[in-house]
Amino acid sequence: MAREVMVGPDGQAIGVSYVDKKTRSEVQVRAKIVVLAASCCETARIMLNSKSSQFPNGIANSSGLVGKYVMDTVGSAVSGFLPIMQDLPPANEDGVGGMHLYMPWWLYKEQKAGKMPFARGYHIEIGGGRTQPGNGIMNGYAERWLGGGYGVEMKANLRKLYGCQVHFSGRGEMIPNDNSYCEIDNDVVDQWGIPVLKFHFKWSEDEILQARHMQETFQQIITTMGGTVTSSFGADKNWGIAPGGEIIHEVGAVKMGDTPKNSVLNQYCQAWDVKNLFITDAAPFVSNADKNPTLTITALGWRTSDYIVDQVKKLNVKV
Ligand SMILES: Cc1cc2nc3c(=O)[nH]c(=O)nc-3n(C[C@H](O)[C@H](O)[C@H](O)COP(=O)(O)OP(=O)(O)OC[C@H]3O[C@@H](n4cnc5c(N)ncnc54)[C@H](O)[C@@H]3O)c2cc1C
Repeated sequence: MAREVMVGPDGQAIGVSYVDKKTRSEVQVRAKIVVLAASCCETARIMLNSKSSQFPNGIANSSGLVGKYVMDTVGSAVSGFLPIMQDLPPANEDGVGGMHLYMPWWLYKEQKAGKMPFARGYHIEIGGGRTQPGNGIMNGYAERWLGGGYGVEMKANLRKLYGCQVHFSGRGEMIPNDNSYCEIDNDVVDQWGIPVLKFHFKWSEDEILQARHMQETFQQIITTMGGTVTSSFGADKNWGIAPGGEIIHEVGAVKMGDTPKNSVLNQYCQAWDVKNLFITDAAPFVSNADKNPTLTITALGWRTSDYIVDQVKKLNVKV
C-alpha cells in the first residue's frame, strides 16, 4: 500500500515508501523513474501525502492544483413499458441491451451552432429485451399491466409482457469546476495509518441541463412508441442526475496542461516539477468526455510509456 513518493535533495523522485500489508511494516523501494497509476483520486492522495521540504504541499504541487477538478460522468435514466413488444414470438435475445446497443451524441451540429442550452453532449446506453427476468418483470409487472393472475394465467401474462420493458441511461460529459475537488482529511487515517481524502463535489448548470435533456428525450422516445414511462425524474430531483461518484467514472485531480502554472503535468503526463514522475491513470484528464474512460486511460498510458523510453534514450530523464 503505497504511502508516498520520496524526494531526493535535487527535488527528483527517488522511490516510494509503502506499507507491507502482511507485516504492516514500512518499506522503502528505490527507483529512478516513478509512475503512479493508483486510479485518479488515490494518485492525488499519494501525491498530497508526499510532503517534503521541497514540496510542503505535496509532490509536484507548486501549482496547488493536485486534487482539483475531480469529475464523474453525468448520468440520468428513464424506464418505460412498450405494449408494441407484447406477444412477440420467443427468440434468444442474449446480448441485447447495454452491451450491444449504444447511441452516440447526435446533436453536435446544433451544439456547434449554439442552439443547445448546455455545453458538450451525451451518449445513450439502452437496456431491455428478453434478458434474465429480474424484479421488473417478476415483481408486480404482470399485476400492474394485466391485473396479475394466478397459476397458468399469471404465467401467460408474464410471457405476454416478457421483453416489454425498456431502459435508457444517459452518459454525458462533465466540465471541470472549482467546486469539485479532493483534499487530505487531516483528522482521518485508513487502517494503514495513511491520511485519507475528503471530497467536495458540485454539478454545474451545464450538467443539470444535460440531465434534463436526457429525461425529456428518453420520455419522448417512449411515448412516441406508444409506451408508458414507468420511472423518470423532474426538476425537483435535479432531473435524476446521479450524485458525483455514482457512475464510477471518476477522472481528473492531477491535470495536464500547457504550463506549470495552469497544470501539474505536461502533455505526456510528466510532472512539470519532477521530471522523473509520471501519471498513467485518469488523473491527467482535463474534461470527462461522454465516452467511458478506460480506453482513453490506456491510450494515454501507452503514449506516456513511449515518451519515457524516448526521454531516457535522449538522456533527458536519467536512469
Ligand atoms: C463497477 C464498475 C464498472 C465500470 N464500467 C466501466 C466501463 O464499462 N467502461 C469504462 O471505460 N470504465 C468503467 N469503469 C471505470 C473504470 O473501471 C476505471 O475508470 C478504470 O479502471 C480506472 O483505471 P485505473 O488504472 O486508473 O485504476 P484502477 O483500475 O482502479 O487500478 C488502480 C490499481 O492501483 C491499486 N492501488 C490503489 N491504491 C494503491 C496504493 N495506495 N498502493 C498500491 N496500489 C494501489 C489498486 O489496487 C488497483 O489495482 C467501471 C468502474 C466500476 C467500479
